[in-house]
Amino acid sequence: MEEKVEMMEKLSIAGELAAGAVHEIKNPLSAIRGFAQLLENSFNEADERREYTNIIINEIDRLSELIKEFLVLTKPDNRHYSKESINKVIGDIVPLIQTKAVMNNVSIKTSLCEEIPEISMNKEHMKQVFLNLFNNAIEAMPQGGELIVITTYQDNDIKIEIIDTGCGILPENIKKLFNPFFTTKEEGTGLGLSICKRIIENHKGSISVDSNPGKGSTFTIHLPVLI
Ligand code: ADP
Ligand code: MG
Repeated sequence: MEEKVEMMEKLSIAGELAAGAVHEIKNPLSAIRGFAQLLENSFNEADERREYTNIIINEIDRLSELIKEFLVLTKPDNRHYSKESINKVIGDIVPLIQTKAVMNNVSIKTSLCEEIPEISMNKEHMKQVFLNLFNNAIEAMPQGGELIVITTYQDNDIKIEIIDTGCGILPENIKKLFNPFFTTKEEGTGLGLSICKRIIENHKGSISVDSNPGKGSTFTIHLPVLI
């Protein structure tokens, strides 16, 4: 028990340090980006150095994205809670991914239970969860397919299923899926699912996955309605 407390303290200190470091990294990054941009503009159109500076800028943007995601993981989450409808959060996110879905030939279907009560949540974080999961689902269906979102409610438990007909997940990858930095994508950060897990656990819920390689995957979230 004592060991566990000590471990938790160490983790929390590590989290604070990481969050601090992330802030310190942001400013120099934006300075580097600004000057790289100036440099790029100073070369004429045909100069191949324009391409190099462009790569620098793209890579800085990738780093910034990574850092932004990392902050969600390290930031303590004790503010910004309000009573919200999970269906509404999902309804807000669907239009945001519609373009990407259409480009990938993915059709989105939703079946949302009307009886779900509002629950106390960090709405911005919760939106992030669905954005990450929907993005992953679409990325798993480059040849097109279906993304189905189902919400149900029973015994103070909200169940949300996110089903795709995509590539599926190999059994050996299932247990690594929620680890930070685990990715099978060339341009992936591997932070999306670890952030989802962290956010859902902050809401006293759980997230799990079930997959058939070659057929598709289902991510299931349970959120308690605390009374
Ligand atoms: P990223 O998307 O940056 O790779 P994530 O944490 O969001 O990071 O996902 C980690 C990995 O889990 C992905 O690289 C992919 O291999 C796998 N994955 C996640 N969602 C799905 C899905 N719906 N179908 C198939 N594989 C998935
Ligand atoms: Mg992802």
